[in-house]
Amino acid sequence: MTENKGSYWNCRVIEHKGEYPWFGIHEVYYDAGGGVTGITENPVQLVQGSVDDLQDEIHKLKMAFEKPVLDYAACADVSKTCDNLSRDERQKVVLGWAIDTFGELTATSLTERAARFTEEALELAQAVGLSQNHVINILNYVYGRPIGDTAQEIGGVAVSLMALGERLRLSIDECERHELNRILAKDPKFFREKQNSKAGAGVALEVSNGK
Ligand SMILES: [Mg+2]
Repeated sequence: MTENKGSYWNCRVIEHKGEYPWFGIHEVYYDAGGGVTGITENPVQLVQGSVDDLQDEIHKLKMAFEKPVLDYAACADVSKTCDNLSRDERQKVVLGWAIDTFGELTATSLTERAARFTEEALELAQAVGLSQNHVINILNYVYGRPIGDTAQEIGGVAVSLMALGERLRLSIDECERHELNRILAKDPKFFREKQNSKAGAGVALEVSNGK
């Protein structure tokens, strides 16, 4: 079981019902209250980067047999909000969620969108151990150079994230689906309060439209 700010995931035996039922072990995601918020589309594969990691994985898989079997369709139904959508559709869902949660004025502010992206990028850099000085050096380097093309820079962000995800052996697709399911399942009040506390710290816009 992996804990992360109250939400967690583990491996579960899953039944795929139908004319020829079959069973597989999937990763299942839960909110802090233990409610299912998502499931991986495919069963876990026994492929790891080292023998130790393979042993750890087999240990996790064995633990799955200590819990009740879950139904794939029921788990997938919970997370259908994003799992069956293309990436272009998912980004529409995300901005729609932001508008519903933070109000249109705040959610569609280009400054706000860029600020939230920068915050998450810095949190990721911090999580993998990049020092504050290193970040400041990069900041000064970037702002000392000519301004880039927006579409090309979005491509650059995506490609560099893919390289980092692969280096960390984390699927960006899985992380993205998991996070989207998590925020869609959570009470918007939580995010509004968090947004306003960031606004109080001077790094975000307050929730608009009285929402
Ligand atoms: Mg974050």
